[in-house]
Amino acid sequence: MSDNLAQKQDLKNFTLNELTAFAVDHGLPPFRGKQIFSWLYRPGITSFNEMTDLPKALRESLTGLATFSRFTSFIKEVSRDGTCKYGFHLQDGKMIESVLIPEADRNTLCISSQVGCAMGCAFCLTGTMGFSRNLSCAEIVNQVCAVRDDLSKDNRPGITNLVFMGMGEPLANFENLTRALIILSDKQGLHFSEHKITVSTCGIVPKIIELGKKFKVNLAISLHAADNKTRSSLMPINQRYPLEALMEACQEFSLPKRKKITFEYALLKGINDSDKDAVMLARLLHGIQAKINLLPCNETPEIPFTKPDEQRITSFQNILKKRGYTVLIRSSRGADISAACGQLASKSALSSTSA
Ligand code: SAH
Ligand code: SF4
Repeated sequence: MSDNLAQKQDLKNFTLNELTAFAVDHGLPPFRGKQIFSWLYRPGITSFNEMTDLPKALRESLTGLATFSRFTSFIKEVSRDGTCKYGFHLQDGKMIESVLIPEADRNTLCISSQVGCAMGCAFCLTGTMGFSRNLSCAEIVNQVCAVRDDLSKDNRPGITNLVFMGMGEPLANFENLTRALIILSDKQGLHFSEHKITVSTCGIVPKIIELGKKFKVNLAISLHAADNKTRSSLMPINQRYPLEALMEACQEFSLPKRKKITFEYALLKGINDSDKDAVMLARLLHGIQAKINLLPCNETPEIPFTKPDEQRITSFQNILKKRGYTVLIRSSRGADISAACGQLASKSALSSTSA
């Protein structure tokens, strides 16, 4: 990248309001901001010159002034079960992953919010990588643009749902997450309904409350234990925001009309999988509009945990069901290509494809 290009602003980091302000700052009428914004998210647009309703002189001056990024190539790996993992190289040589999970009635894209993660959860491979850096807003939305374009190239059904369950802790990158959510849901942007977007967090309490005030997106909480002692031993964040504070934030998040909060619970053999644990979990979630996803531990050599046997898993599930909860056992999709929950660590040597 030349020095000149390094100074150019990437317009994909701007929300519509911010791009309008950018236009005005550069002596343009505000509507130009809206025009440019809507071009940025149309498939196949790679240069300002293609923005045909802008005057030619403006297209030229924009080319000198700004840029808009996209992922031009990716590495793609398809699992036996149809799950598809995309690896994207970032400009600084780092790599992130997104996972497309096709199901009968939906096509969910799981996206990353950081390179690595600083939260250090003991059972999570991403956590063992440590933290490298936050993704920019552009890097977050470009995952969606690239997969959308890849699907449409093959005439495959488009993305219906987005989940922030890839690498990183989205609420630890709050500013860029906020911008990305605004663009992802903007009619002129990627036009996803907020109800089709889920943000998953390990439990950064003040940010959960802020997210709930700003957006109508769905919330998923990585819970993994129903008592503070076990949770703190698995998830360091629990020492800062213990279960009492987390549950209070969940209560506050549960505004009328919002869907249920999803609680993710990785079943780790001998650690959090007893009948007593299930009863504790039922009690903890009492009074919260909750649905529970049980994730039998995705095993990997770097992680010192294993999954319980089938009987234990069913017994745990039944205790919760009897107490009236919706409980799903989430099959570990894409495990053969390290695309399952908590397995994203951009370590695989994959084959390269051009977008
Ligand atoms: N940082 C956010 C987003 C990542 S989502 C969060 O923690 O919510 C990834 C999901 O996979 C989380 O629910 C995480 O707890 C879960 N996970 C991580 N390692 C896992 C493992 N070994 N087995 C099953 N689930 C795991
Ligand atoms: Fe980070 Fe989430 Fe993994 Fe914890 S579970 S280390 S918060 S990605």
